[in-house]
Amino acid sequence: MRDQRYDVLFDPMKIGPVTAKNRFYQVPHCNGGGYRDPSAAAEMRRSKAEGGWGVIFTEQCEMHHTSEITPFIELRLWEDKDIPMLRRMSDRMKEHGALAGIQLAYSGVNGPNLYSKEVPLAVSAQPIRTFTNDPVQARALDKSDIRDLRRWFVNAALRSKEAGFDLICLYGAHGFGIFQHFLSRATNHRSDEYGGSLENRSRFVNEVISDIKDAVGDTMGITLRVSLDETIGDLGFSNAEVRDFVEMNRNLPDLWDLAQGTWEDCSGPSRFKEEAAQEALVRGIHELTDKPIVGVGRFTSPDVMAKMVRNGTLDFIGCARPSIADPFLPKKVEEGRIEDIRECIGCNICITGDMTMSISRCTQNPTFMEEWRKGWHPERMNTKGDSSSVLVLGAGPAGLEATRALAERGYDVALAEAGRAIGGRVARERLLPGLSAWGRVVDYRDYQISQKPNVETYFDSALDADSILEFGFENVCIATGAKWRRDGVARQHVVPFPTDDHMSLFTPDDLMDGASPTGHVVIYDDDHYYMGGVMAELLVQKGCTVTLVTPAAYVSEWTLNTLEQHEIHRRLARLGVMIELNRGVSGIGKDHVITNCMFTDQSRPIQCDAVLLVSSRQENNGVYADLVARQEEWADAGIKSVKLIGDANAPGPIAWATYAGHRYARELDAEDIGDALPFRREITELAAE
Ligand code: ADP
Ligand code: SF4
Repeated sequence: MRDQRYDVLFDPMKIGPVTAKNRFYQVPHCNGGGYRDPSAAAEMRRSKAEGGWGVIFTEQCEMHHTSEITPFIELRLWEDKDIPMLRRMSDRMKEHGALAGIQLAYSGVNGPNLYSKEVPLAVSAQPIRTFTNDPVQARALDKSDIRDLRRWFVNAALRSKEAGFDLICLYGAHGFGIFQHFLSRATNHRSDEYGGSLENRSRFVNEVISDIKDAVGDTMGITLRVSLDETIGDLGFSNAEVRDFVEMNRNLPDLWDLAQGTWEDCSGPSRFKEEAAQEALVRGIHELTDKPIVGVGRFTSPDVMAKMVRNGTLDFIGCARPSIADPFLPKKVEEGRIEDIRECIGCNICITGDMTMSISRCTQNPTFMEEWRKGWHPERMNTKGDSSSVLVLGAGPAGLEATRALAERGYDVALAEAGRAIGGRVARERLLPGLSAWGRVVDYRDYQISQKPNVETYFDSALDADSILEFGFENVCIATGAKWRRDGVARQHVVPFPTDDHMSLFTPDDLMDGASPTGHVVIYDDDHYYMGGVMAELLVQKGCTVTLVTPAAYVSEWTLNTLEQHEIHRRLARLGVMIELNRGVSGIGKDHVITNCMFTDQSRPIQCDAVLLVSSRQENNGVYADLVARQEEWADAGIKSVKLIGDANAPGPIAWATYAGHRYARELDAEDIGDALPFRREITELAAE
């Protein structure tokens, strides 16, 4: 069943005293649940164990209360009380023979300690470096603090062992872990034996690994996650210095876990980073050590994975996002079902769950973090309910996922699409600059649906209420999408504003339909996700001069949560796009727009030839409204239910649409739960008074 080309990925390999059953290594990744939703996180990891991963790690686990990264929600191992929660996690990870790993983090100069109110301790005294620019500084560790910190690591290692883990990862990458802070000149300004030469800067990590090996090294493997390049040249921990460090400390950890410098670089979205983007930084490090190496690079192709192992670049294939998009990736490779792999699209929506302290979702895998909360298995649907047929209207991400998942449950599904292609907004957006990988949302579902005998797809089928009532399907799922508004109404303007009819006005839909503005185009972005920035790129490609005006403080502001805002600004600036931040558009004249400052009364005109309004989207819910108005005819037509889902219900990112489609399919024919909560959750246990 398995293609021999992939055999190398299934060779067991030792990591210190323990052995991984294969080379599929789920590196630590956040999920927005952490200590607040431990059972949800544990079940998510269990699904990966079932899906065949050889190594499964937790997200970062704060190992001492003197270093925590509130408001972000990760795991905590501050005292014995935390052990049961972590034991549940390791139990689930090990259910199918995977090794269970815990990542211990002491955040140092990254931990503002907003919750514990402790004074942050760092390698050198510096302002706290986080996403939130907290007005807090850390004090430098003195010698007795360093002794304490070594002991705290040993305590955390002993607790990790008691919690059932096989592996400990010491976090020193992405600028987040204390080990990197010691190693890098940017964060280590010490003049004692812990600072200065590389040997001195390596002292702390040598001491901690030696301490931990003495304490638990007979039964647990110790891995070290270090940055491949801090990307600030000689001022920081450069790739050349990383190589010197590995060579000097050849066999220090039981495995080297190599990750790009900043988190933004390491987890770059597909818009800015290709698969295996870190290969050049990793290549050759293998020769400097006798220990195995794991590296990442949003690997979704088994051919690339096998090549990485075969050519000696990596021993283990590290995956975070690919394991989120498809927890069953290893199993599918093993069973020769490559075409069933649900490839990560590199949109970084999963990361937004962490950044917004909510709970993560995944565009490709709507079951992510719902495995426990809703009992959604990533590969298996619930059994079919009482009814038998469903008409799905609209083949965008919502309609496609509903169709795929309904067919999986055993319903007969008719998918009616007004256009001549499937994919809805994704079929259009995948053609925009940098978004081609997003097309995988369609490709995966297209193939899955093509394998189902119980789905019929009809193109050129813009159905209305009359035809739907005539067909008489038992259930009707309306996923007819949304269109960009033409009147600029969004957040700054809640009602239309003065606009001269002589000005050429465009929406993103117009451009995706092939319209080509010319001359100087002002983009008014009051949407704040990716579309405004992508449209700016497209217009520059078409030869326009572009000014992007936004009431926000950042271009494509919400992409701060997808770790790409800085890249978007950089790309637009390099393309010559003029960027006007903190400004709205208060009026559109025949040859200009009037921009207004968000904080003062000041306004000024910008001469232009056209305006592109990236404002908000209007639900395409007319057919639904017509059907609701004729509800008394449903019974005679044999219709039991009509439901509106996805962008047609409330426009949002693509991940919201696939989630809506999946939820529809899961809940069809389900018992009415009335006012009950539709998901499980955990709440804090009250202490005895
Ligand atoms: P979502 O993101 O919610 O899936 P999209 O806008 O991507 O929404 O997709 C909606 C799809 O529905 C589009 O492909 C569109 O052509 C199709 N559609 C819209 N109205 C109708 C209709 N009345 N009958 C069939 N298909 C429709
Ligand atoms: Fe990949 Fe996007 Fe899913 Fe994250 S949300 S795993 S980037 S598809």
